[in-house]
Amino acid sequence: MIKEETLLMLLPGFNCGACGYVNCATFASALKEKRATPEQCTVFRQERFKEQFTKLTGMLNLAGIQATETYTGLIDKAKADFLLHPLPGEPSCRETLACFSAKKISKDDVIRYRPLGCPITHFARVVELDNGLLDVWVTGPGKLLGREEMVIDVGICMVLSFRGVIEGMRPYVGQTVKFLPAHCMMGKVHSGVIVSLEDQTTRIDCIDLKIWEHTKV
Ligand code: SF4
Repeated sequence: MIKEETLLMLLPGFNCGACGYVNCATFASALKEKRATPEQCTVFRQERFKEQFTKLTGMLNLAGIQATETYTGLIDKAKADFLLHPLPGEPSCRETLACFSAKKISKDDVIRYRPLGCPITHFARVVELDNGLLDVWVTGPGKLLGREEMVIDVGICMVLSFRGVIEGMRPYVGQTVKFLPAHCMMGKVHSGVIVSLEDQTTRIDCIDLKIWEHTKV
């Protein structure tokens, strides 16, 4: 049986939290319990830790320890790198939309739209307007039932960005990722590029429902 201390000795020891865990010891524990993979330690990308990384992955493989946590799309069964949850206190991940409708839209309005490439009609509340782009929370239609609220039909919109909190592997800024928005009604894996990352809070741009292949690090 592999010991946690043995794994810990092979980690860089920076206790920097870049892996998404508070320190190397909790990361070692997550490795042992198959909740994390060595690639999550971004410090391992440095050339000087290459040998340690090889030893660690070899040891985990020998012990038959591989992370089992996977996030799979419902429709295409595609594997996602991580789940995206809403920002703290918010009802769904934030989407930034390019809306082509000439209708007047204000903050707090509820809009009905179909994201380009998605067969599902969405209902969303406008949270912010910024230079012609809309930030929205997807609300269902379920949460609107029984409410006397006017819904503005804006036709097709392009979803440009998502903002939320990552559960799973920690990407790096600039990385092309595959992710599953927790509120997605189709359970469809999306792809995009990480443009900001603070702890596990991220903004992902260039959203696409086509899943692009990307190089693993
Ligand atoms: S990223 Fe690597 S060095 Fe930093 S805390 Fe996690 S395991 Fe330790």
